Amino acid sequence: MSAIKLDGNATAAAIKDELRERVSALRTKGVTPGLGTLLVGDDGASRSYVTGKHRDCAEVGVASISLELPASASFDEIADAVRELNDNPQVTAFIVQLPLPPGIDENAIIGLIDPAKDADGLHPENLGALVLGVNPTTVAPGPLPCTPAGIIELLNRHGVDVARKHVAVIGRGITVGRPLGLMLSRKGTDATVTLTHSRTPDLAAEVRRADVVVAAVGVPHLVKAEWIKPGAAVLDVGVTRTGTTSQGRAKLAGDVDPSVADVAGWLSPNPGGVGPMTRAMLVANVVDIAERKLAPHPSAPYATLKGTS
Ligand code: NAP
Repeated sequence: MSAIKLDGNATAAAIKDELRERVSALRTKGVTPGLGTLLVGDDGASRSYVTGKHRDCAEVGVASISLELPASASFDEIADAVRELNDNPQVTAFIVQLPLPPGIDENAIIGLIDPAKDADGLHPENLGALVLGVNPTTVAPGPLPCTPAGIIELLNRHGVDVARKHVAVIGRGITVGRPLGLMLSRKGTDATVTLTHSRTPDLAAEVRRADVVVAAVGVPHLVKAEWIKPGAAVLDVGVTRTGTTSQGRAKLAGDVDPSVADVAGWLSPNPGGVGPMTRAMLVANVVDIAERKLAPHPSAPYATLKGTS
């Protein structure tokens, strides 16, 4: 068997086409959505992620507002920058690029983001709304975390239905695995999820039972072909830097062994799978937030809490 490609580049391009139209509709109503970014320090990978996010915004007509601080910035200086983005009316939503320099309490910084401007969907209020929003018809979800949203969208747009299927998620990190389990098991999505991690006693056995496997770990080629049920859909999320090319570029490896392509029914390439989808969903969150401001959902959790519904 040779797996069908879950093509993140093509799918993200299609989503951006849709977003471009939504942004131009917003502009006719006098609204230009804007993504803010806060980059602390000069980590090469973080800088290139932020640059990529601004490039995505430019492609669909979303404005970019960029703040930078040196790696030596104190907690208070970072907190002030977050408040500046909260208060800036040109910023529809923003992200704080992670990781922050060692010694800075990331959760405390994320907690300072206005939940209504939380482009990454990682503020505790929005993660709480995700837990509460088990039934999306009664409680409107806040912004959803971008990587899990991108994974579900990638599957949907390739016709891979997860309802009544068994999904094994490897990794319980807060940006991917943990929220993905919540999102897949929502009413209406209806997957049955096994959330595994480094202390799962027999990982291979859990993965072997799954119709869909999501590897969000950061261990190169952890997932082997013999772990995969023939025909399963496999999403390779993890990214590990394994060295540097002679041109000075980072050499990257995913979590999924290349031999999995011979057993799986669908496979997301890495790069070119979940990465571009994550970026597309970030821009989608900004556009969603801008649209919701014009026409708030009657039970949007943050609208209700702030008495604006
Ligand atoms: P994280 O918070 O460090 O979580 C990693 C998870 O992997 C943890 O739950 C850990 O288990 C588990 N793990 C580690 N070794 C394992 C093993 N041998 N077997 C089973 N589980 C193991 O990382 P994250 O932020 O969730 O990100 C995960 C990976 O996805 C990273 O490589 C990251 O770069 C990548 N990523 C990619 C994208 C994208 O757009 N492509 C976006 C976000 C993240 P414990 O909890 O027990 O320690």
